[in-house]
Amino acid sequence: MADEIKTIADESAESEGRNFIHAFVEEDIGKGGRFEGMQVHTRFPPEPNGYLHIGHCKALIIDFGTAEKFGGLCNLRMDDTNPAKEDTEFVEAIQEDIHWLGFDWGDRLFYGSDYFEKTYTYAVELIKKGLAYVCDLSPEEFKANRGDIGKPAVSPYRDRSVEENLDLFERMKNGEFPEGSKTLRAKIDLESGNFNMRDPVMYRIRYIDHHRQGTKWCIFPMYDFAHPIQDALEGITHSLCSLEYEEHRPLYDWVVSNVSIPYHKPRQIEFARLGINYTVLSKRKLRKLVEEGYVSGWDDPRMPTLCGLRRRGFTAAAIRSFCERIGVAKAPSTIEYGFLEHCLREDLNEHAERTMAVLHPVKLIVTNYPEGQSETFAVENNPTDPTAGTHNITFSREVWIEADDFMETPVPKYKRLTPNGLECRLKGAYLVKCTGCKKDGDGNIVEVYATYDPESRGGDPADGRKVKGATIHWVDVETSVDAEVRLYDYLFNDPAPDGPDKNFLDCLNPDSLEILTGCKIEPELAKIAAEYDRSDKTGKTAPTFQFMRLGYFCLDNKDSTGDHIVFNRSVSLKDSFKK
Ligand code: ATP
Ligand code: MG
Repeated sequence: MADEIKTIADESAESEGRNFIHAFVEEDIGKGGRFEGMQVHTRFPPEPNGYLHIGHCKALIIDFGTAEKFGGLCNLRMDDTNPAKEDTEFVEAIQEDIHWLGFDWGDRLFYGSDYFEKTYTYAVELIKKGLAYVCDLSPEEFKANRGDIGKPAVSPYRDRSVEENLDLFERMKNGEFPEGSKTLRAKIDLESGNFNMRDPVMYRIRYIDHHRQGTKWCIFPMYDFAHPIQDALEGITHSLCSLEYEEHRPLYDWVVSNVSIPYHKPRQIEFARLGINYTVLSKRKLRKLVEEGYVSGWDDPRMPTLCGLRRRGFTAAAIRSFCERIGVAKAPSTIEYGFLEHCLREDLNEHAERTMAVLHPVKLIVTNYPEGQSETFAVENNPTDPTAGTHNITFSREVWIEADDFMETPVPKYKRLTPNGLECRLKGAYLVKCTGCKKDGDGNIVEVYATYDPESRGGDPADGRKVKGATIHWVDVETSVDAEVRLYDYLFNDPAPDGPDKNFLDCLNPDSLEILTGCKIEPELAKIAAEYDRSDKTGKTAPTFQFMRLGYFCLDNKDSTGDHIVFNRSVSLKDSFKK
C-alpha cells in the first residue's frame, strides 16, 4: 500500500509541477524572502469535533505535501481550544485516518490546549501594551454594537485603564464572573471595513469541562487569537488554510506582530475548499446526519468521511489520486462525485481480484450434465495483472444465474438466455443453450433449463463456431455461500444539497441504500471473508473484489460475522464520468 501511494504522489508531482502555494513558498525561502534559508514548516490543524472527510484530505495533501516538497516538516495539531464539542474519540480517529492516507507527523503531535498558559501570558502582554481590554457587553449587546459599513462599532469599556483590565482579566480567569458577562477584546479599529478587526473578542468565559484540561480553565481563547500564537510557537513558516480565513488574515498578522513571539512570524496562505456535488463536506452537517440517525454512523459507507469511504471500499491511493488530480486552486469549485468514483474504479481495475457473485439468483439446471458430477476451473484473478495468479471455482449441474439473464419472452436484441434462443457462455465454463423454465403458481420463474456442449470446456467451442449470445456470470449451487449485499446510491438527490436557501436534510435521497439478502457468492469470497482479521475494525480497507459484470464490492468488516457475510458495493463498473 505504501508503495502504491508513493508512485501516485510522485507521478502527479512530476506531471503537475508546482501550484500557487509552492510558488509563494519558493519565493519566501529564496534569496531576500521572508524565510530565506529556513526550513519550511507547515501544520494540519483539525478541530477534534468530528471525523475527517475527503475535504480534509485536500488540506492534508497541501500541508504535508508542501512540507515534503521543500524538505520541511509538518505538524499535526489538534485544534482543541473550543471545549464545547471536542472528544478523545475524535482525536484518535483523526490520527488513524491520517495514517491510513499515508501521512506521518512523526513525533510532532501537538494540542492547541497545551498552549493555554502561554496564550494567557500573551493576552496579558497585549493588555499591558494597551492593545486589549475587558469588555462587559453581553454577546447580544456586542452584536448590536458592531456598527455597519460607514458606522463604527461601539464599546463603552474601551478606555479602561491597563490596571483595571489586568485585574478584571485575572478575575475572569479565576472564575469570578458568569458566562457571557465579560470578554477580552483586542483594541484595533472600531471603524475598520473588515469587521474582524473591529476589536474582536480574544477570550470568553465558559464553565465547561475540557477533554484534556478538565476544569482548569474557565476562559478560552478564540480561534483568531489562539491559532496564530500556536503557529508561531511551533515555528510554522506557512500556515495553509482554506479560503474562509482570508478575511481573518489581517487579524492573524496583527496578533503575530503584537505578541513577543520568540521566532519568526508565520505567513498565512489560503486555498479553495474542496466541494463535491451530491454530498456535504461540513462536519456540522455530517454530525447532524449521524446524531439524528439519517445514517448508521460516521463510517456509514454513504458518508464522505474518510472512515465511511474506507468502509465503502475506497483505497487510500484512490482518494489521494483524486485530491492530487483536482489540483490546488485559489478559486472555489465543485468537483463531480463521478470523478471520485472514476479514480476508485481506476485503482480497483488494476488491483481488485475478479470473482463471481449473483445478486438476484435463479437456478439454472444443465439437464445433460451428469448428476453428482463436479469439476474445477481456474479463474484469472486479474486480467490486467498477469502476476495476480488464479483461483479455483467449481461447476456442477446446477448453478445460480442472475434473474435478469433469463427472459421467457425476450425483448428485441436480448442476447442472454431465452428458450431456444442464442447460445450463451457461462463465464469460464461451458456454452449453454436455454431450453425452457419452470414457474410457480404466481408466474415467477423458479428454474431455468439449458443443455451444455461438453466440447466447450473453458468456454470456447471445439469447432470454432461463433458464439452469438452473451457471456453471463454464475455461481455453483453446490459450493455457493449466501451473503448480504448493500447497494449504495448518492446520499443526496440534489447536486447541491449545501446550496443557499436549502435545508440539506430535505435533499436526502430516500433510495440511497438497497439491501439484498440471499445473494450467492463463490466460496473463494467466503474463504477470504472468514480469514480476514476482524480485530482491526477500521484501520484499513477490507478486501475489495470485482464481481464480474456487476461492479466492485468490499467486505463490510464491521457487520460481517462468521456466518453472515456482508459486502458493500464500492462502485459500479460503468463510468459515468466524462473527462
Ligand atoms: P468543517 O466545516 O467540515 O468542520 P473545518 O474547517 O471546521 O471544517 P477543521 O477540522 O478545522 O474543519 O479543518 C482542518 C483543516 O482542514 C483546516 O485547515 C481547514 O481549512 C481544512 N479543511 C476543512 N474542510 C476542507 C475542505 N472541504 N477542503 C479543503 N480543506 C478543508
Ligand atoms: Mg474549523
